[in-house]
Amino acid sequence: MAEKSQTALQRYKSRRVGYLVDQEKTEPPVSAKDQYHNNGLALRLLLLFLLLPALGFFGWRAYENLPGEPLELTYEIDLSEAPHGTLMVTLIAEGKLPPQLDLEYPPGIFGKTQYGRKLLRPSAHALNDNGTMGRPLTVDQSANGWRLGTRGLNRAGFIYRVDLSKAESSEMDIRKHISTLVNGGVRFAGFEIFLQPTNSNVKNITVTLHNPARMPVLVPWPALVKNTNREHNDSAGPLADAHLGYGQGYNPTPDLATAISSGQAARNKPNFAEPVPMNLFYHPNDLADLNNALIICGNIRTLNSRAKDCVIQFATSQNWLFNDSDALDLVRRIARTEIGFFGSSPTEQITVLLATNEVQTAEGFDVYGVHTGSSVLVMIHRDTTWGMLEEQAASVIAHEMFHGWLGEAITQNDPATLWFTEGATTWYSARMLTAAGVWTPQHARQVLTDRLNRDYVQNPWRGEVSIAAAAADVMGDPDQVRYAYAGGVAASIALDQWLSRQSRMVRPLDEVLRYLYENRTEEGFSRLVLEEAVLAVTGVDCRLWLENYVYGTQNLPPVDRLI
Ligand SMILES: [Zn+2]
Repeated sequence: MAEKSQTALQRYKSRRVGYLVDQEKTEPPVSAKDQYHNNGLALRLLLLFLLLPALGFFGWRAYENLPGEPLELTYEIDLSEAPHGTLMVTLIAEGKLPPQLDLEYPPGIFGKTQYGRKLLRPSAHALNDNGTMGRPLTVDQSANGWRLGTRGLNRAGFIYRVDLSKAESSEMDIRKHISTLVNGGVRFAGFEIFLQPTNSNVKNITVTLHNPARMPVLVPWPALVKNTNREHNDSAGPLADAHLGYGQGYNPTPDLATAISSGQAARNKPNFAEPVPMNLFYHPNDLADLNNALIICGNIRTLNSRAKDCVIQFATSQNWLFNDSDALDLVRRIARTEIGFFGSSPTEQITVLLATNEVQTAEGFDVYGVHTGSSVLVMIHRDTTWGMLEEQAASVIAHEMFHGWLGEAITQNDPATLWFTEGATTWYSARMLTAAGVWTPQHARQVLTDRLNRDYVQNPWRGEVSIAAAAADVMGDPDQVRYAYAGGVAASIALDQWLSRQSRMVRPLDEVLRYLYENRTEEGFSRLVLEEAVLAVTGVDCRLWLENYVYGTQNLPPVDRLI
């Protein structure tokens, strides 16, 4: 693994929009007609996790030149008490340690004391060269975390427990439901578990999972398949840097037989006979990867399939009113369509994790979607039927999965392009569902028409604030957020049609998206990148068009083709 060193500042800059939350609200169906209508009224809200912490970064101490050599970090997570909602974490820091080592949760909404997970019984000690425990170290609570007295040491261990008990069902903030108890174990996000040094550079991060009960463990992100190193895909045999691969640590689902007998899956059947290892480990690429991790252990069932060279995985720990194999088939159809659209998958594994929506208030949403990397956590009601899954949850799955390309690979970190990242993703997810045969074109058109009429055409914010400004302000009022999403959809469709007339191309925006994906860079997505991609693909200079209709307040020209 290439050595990577990041200062705290670089790391905050480098933190990608790892977790995006999309929310879908549909009212309980009254009649078939109403249900259809209500689906058209689907409301999607965006809460950009990392935009919130970004606001706090301005006040953050800027470590331009951190002292000392970069530290190596190993996080050992003991899953022994996971079924009771407790994780024991040992952080081992190695290198020339500073006199005092400051450890904090990633700053932001989850780093604040009132939101952060309770850290129990912290203790620290020196580690001797032979690995044995040395003298205890001072552990003082600081404003945002903990300060360890590490003067003169080359190795120190910090042990703490994290309590992952469930949030109240009246808790509306879905972000507080991501890390929680699940059937037989827990689900947790990296940013809620991993304390990090803030006054030292960091290189080489290792996460190990100690799993004495040999529970099934799933790590949808980072995508831990064998041959994680894409550049060396051709080399045979497992690489040393990822020990946790698909087919390891998973429970075969009871109805796997049905799934594999249906063809494709049978030929690519992973070897489920491999025992669940007691110790698993992986190396996140960097601190962003560490924070973005989603890890689940417990009574998980998984089903695997393939689309091109990508493993498609469906996982759940709940029993549903539909078959796992049907759900996998739905996921596979969506994944295959989206991979086909872009030509390849940005990751070697796409996991869709279906979980129960624990939010039980009148204002709560029926379906919540979160993506991290190319993997998707979808939270739906316990009593969701197959029909509801196809009509409602499928659009959330398609939307979140599409973010694996537009949002992750084409990296969304500039608020000025959120209108496109969300608007185009919403539009294309409807088109992908249509292409995959999950939605009829008529249904997709109806959903889009209702949404555009209600949330864009009739929105009080229309003409008052630009679509781009509304989208950049994720803390806006609900009408503004609806305006931003629907406006982004309308702008994407209108841009496609305008470009089509200018260039005589049939689907110019499709080509622009593929161009953005193929030419993606570390710097990420920006207004300039979009303008240049449009010019490169279509020969059209779209700067004035965007200035007027997206970054300005002119009403978009009417569109005539929605799908
Ligand atoms: Zn989204």
